Amino acid sequence: MQAQWTALHDLPAHGREFSFHDEDIWKALFHDFDLQCRAEIPVHVNFTLIPAGDGVFIQGTLKGTIILQCHRCLEDARIVLEEAFDFFEPLEAEDNASRQSLIREQGGVLELDIIGLVWEQFLMALPDKILCSSSCKGICPHCGENRNIINCSCHETTGDPRLSVLRNLKISSN
Ligand SMILES: [Zn+2]
Ligand SMILES: [Zn+2]
Repeated sequence: MQAQWTALHDLPAHGREFSFHDEDIWKALFHDFDLQCRAEIPVHVNFTLIPAGDGVFIQGTLKGTIILQCHRCLEDARIVLEEAFDFFEPLEAEDNASRQSLIREQGGVLELDIIGLVWEQFLMALPDKILCSSSCKGICPHCGENRNIINCSCHETTGDPRLSVLRNLKISSN
């Protein structure tokens, strides 16, 4: 995914609004960052860039509903994104050595990477754990069944090897 640079030198003092909701760019981002994700309600990011001293103040919102893979059961997990963000981005790229800067200088003009900014906010809006539900029971490590759908009895027979005799009896009696 290519960066999309916007020049900062001509920002009006009250700031400038941007709206980002290009579904093709989202699809390309998901693909490029190898994220199995599709939008149920396309992700919209609206933000304002306001010049402030030796940086730019960025505030906005990110909204949408996406489908990701549940970390426990690998089925669809619906994630509703609704985040507000608000931060200061210094114009000196050197100050940002710890992370990839959103700002570069090109031909004496400072520019901000709009797509980089949007992607950063998207990643920060994701929950730490992607789950289809907070009570997702996941996949049984023994039989591989989705425990949300099939109530396997593996967990009852693990742990104590002496029970394996009973387990075998149970299987043969079926
Ligand atoms: Zn799940
Ligand atoms: Zn099982």
